[in-house]
Amino acid sequence: MSTIDQEVAGYYDKVLKRNAGEPEFHQAVAEVLESLKIVLQKDPHYADYGLIERLCEPERQIIFRVPWIDDDNNVRVNRGFRVQFNSALGPYKGGLRFHPSVNLGIIKFLGFEQIFKNSLTGLPIGGGKGGSDFDPKGRSEAEIMRFCQSFMTELWRYIGEYRDVPAGDIGVGGREVGYMFGQYRRLVNQHESGVLTGKGLTWGGSLVRKEATGYGTVYFTDEMMRANGDSLDGAKVIVSGSGNVATYAMQKAQELGATVVGFSDSSGWVETPNGVDIELLRDVKENRRGRVSEYVEETTGATFHKDGSIWDLSADVALPCATQNELNGDHAKALVDNGVKYVAEGANMPSTHEAIELFRAKKICFGPGKAANAGGVATSALEMQQNASRDSWSFDYTDNRLRGIMSNIFNIAANTAEEYDRAGDYIIGANIAGFKKVADAMLAQGVI
Ligand code: GLU
Repeated sequence: MSTIDQEVAGYYDKVLKRNAGEPEFHQAVAEVLESLKIVLQKDPHYADYGLIERLCEPERQIIFRVPWIDDDNNVRVNRGFRVQFNSALGPYKGGLRFHPSVNLGIIKFLGFEQIFKNSLTGLPIGGGKGGSDFDPKGRSEAEIMRFCQSFMTELWRYIGEYRDVPAGDIGVGGREVGYMFGQYRRLVNQHESGVLTGKGLTWGGSLVRKEATGYGTVYFTDEMMRANGDSLDGAKVIVSGSGNVATYAMQKAQELGATVVGFSDSSGWVETPNGVDIELLRDVKENRRGRVSEYVEETTGATFHKDGSIWDLSADVALPCATQNELNGDHAKALVDNGVKYVAEGANMPSTHEAIELFRAKKICFGPGKAANAGGVATSALEMQQNASRDSWSFDYTDNRLRGIMSNIFNIAANTAEEYDRAGDYIIGANIAGFKKVADAMLAQGVI
C-alpha cells in the first residue's frame, strides 16, 4: 500500500468505527475518499488541519420524536432527523425524506452527498438532509397534515433562511412542503418564504422546481452524449421509478427525441416499447397517487411485470431515478450485455459499488448522482434567490438557468477528470471538483 492509500484507509477506518451500522454512509464516504487519493497525491495540503476528518463528521445531527394521532385516534410515534453536514459554502441545503427505510445512516449518506452536489452547482449552499421513518403510503390527507405539523413543531427551531433550508425528497412533495410551511409560519409568526423550497407557486415557489431534478438529469445526459458524439434523438432510454424525478426525466427525454422504453415503482415495472404517455402517467401518479399497473390498464402497448428487472430491457441510456442501491452488479452486467452506452443517476447513489466498477471497466459513460441530479437543488437555490429579491421568474428564464447550470456541472466534471489524467471519468471529476471548492472554503475559514 502506498502512503496515500494508507492515509486514506486510516480516514475510512475512523469513519467505520465512529459510525457503526450505517452501510450507506460508509459507501458514500468510500466513493469520495477513493477519488481524493489522486488529489492528496498532487496537493497534500488538502489533508492539513484535519480537513478530511472534519469533512466526514457532520457539523450537527438532530434527532427528535414526532408524535401524531392517526384517524382512528391511535397515538403514533415516528423519528425525525436533520443532519446539518457542512455550511462552509452557505446555509445547509437539502431535502427531507419520508420513508420507512429512513434512519440516521441513510440521512447521513444523503447529507454527505449533498455537500459535493451543492458545491458543484456553483451556488452558495451548504449540505444537509433530513426526514423521518414515517410511511406516507396509505395515509389520509388529514394524517399527512398532522404528521407534517408535528414534524415542523420540532424542526422549526433549527432552520431558517440563513441557517438551513429544507425541501422535498422521496415522500415529500409540494403537498407536504405546504403543510410544513404553514406550521412554520404559524410558529414564528413571520412569512419567511426563504425557509423552505419546493413551495407552491403563489406563495414563494419557483416555476421549474417540480420538473428540475428530472429535467436536469436529462440536460446532463444530453451534454454527456454530445461530448461523446451522440444524441438523445432516436435513443432508447430506461428510466426507473415513476415519482417526481423519473416523470420529468421521461418527459424531457421524449421531448428531445428519445423513446422511454420502461419505468417502474416499488410494485413492479412497465415495458413501453412505443414510449410513455406522460399525461396519463402524471394523472395516475400525481392526481390519483396510484400504482404503475393502473397506467398499463388504461393504455395500449404497455406491459406490467411483477418479476424480473427493468434493467433487463435493452436501451442506449439508463437513468436510475428511484432510490439508493437499486442497480447492482448483476443489473449492470445485463445493461452492458444489452448494449447500454450511457448511465446517469437521477436518484441519490442508485448504483452499487459493483455496478459502478463494471461500468468503469466497460467504459460506459457514467454521470454520478451528485452531478447528474443536482438540477433539483440548483433550482431550489434559484427559488431562494427569487425569495430574497421578492421576485418571481418566468418558466423559460428559470429553465435556461437550470440548463446552463447543468452544462457547467458537466464541463467542470469533464475538465477536472482530464486535469487529473482520468479523462471521461465523471465520477472522479465530480468528486474532486465538488470537494476542492468546499475544502478551500473550510481551509480559509479555519478549524471550526
Ligand atoms: N432532495 C433533492 C436532492 O436530493 C433536492 C434538495 C433541495 O432541493 O434542497 O438534491
